Amino acid sequence: MLQKPTLIDIGANLSNRRFHADLDAVISRAKEAGVEHIIVTGTSERASHDAHALTQTYPGYLSSTAGVHPHEAKNWNTQCAKAIEKLADYDSVVAVGECGLDYNRMFSTETEQRACFEAQLQLAVRVQKPVFLHERDAHEDFFALLRQYRPQLKGAVVHCFTGNTDELRAYLDLDCHIGITGWICDERRGDDLRKAVKFLPKEKLMIETDAPFLLPRNLAVRPDDGRNEPMYLPVVFQAVANILRVSPVTLAQQIRKNTEQFFALPAALS
Ligand SMILES: [Zn+2]
Repeated sequence: MLQKPTLIDIGANLSNRRFHADLDAVISRAKEAGVEHIIVTGTSERASHDAHALTQTYPGYLSSTAGVHPHEAKNWNTQCAKAIEKLADYDSVVAVGECGLDYNRMFSTETEQRACFEAQLQLAVRVQKPVFLHERDAHEDFFALLRQYRPQLKGAVVHCFTGNTDELRAYLDLDCHIGITGWICDERRGDDLRKAVKFLPKEKLMIETDAPFLLPRNLAVRPDDGRNEPMYLPVVFQAVANILRVSPVTLAQQIRKNTEQFFALPAALS
């Protein structure tokens, strides 16, 4: 039998309440599917605390990020900034974010979002950890801020990239890494993304589920509740491998190397 490639999920929202009841089972299924490590996304002060707590419950298997999502930018204040900076100091917290701009749903104003994003870019520079970035319908403003701080940043990954080839090239010019989710499996919406991915250098590629969101649409058997979980990461990986027309074994090794280096994951993983 072919060996399953070992994969790392760089973005799963495992502190989301949809995982409260059965996280042990979710983790077991992920391991069974060949997911070797998961980085739990912090999206608010509370979620970042919870994500860090999970890294203590599953030491070595989970890392986390600490940050405030643009939807939550209205809650950014001095106290919150201090809490995120304190979390970012832990070894198991491997990036600042997710942070960025989202002008699609506007749960916080543009002004609030820009202030919150810029403060976290500055924080990432201070703590010298990479940033885990979110951008939706805000490419210009987002790019301008990121470009300003990029030279001082340790690293930058545009998570859940769903843009077109021009946007991809702009991020690559800033030496960003790119996170690909199950969006790539979506036959209705993923067209631009599939075209763009062909131009993505393999050294810049990482993969993620964004669970419980973005369940890949091409699953043979869909869960009744529509919840995505890390065990579906191989589906994302396979979609990328098909587009890039490379051997899955080589691609998996490359992605793993990219991920371990980018997040400075513990050597114990290797
Ligand atoms: Zn996001």
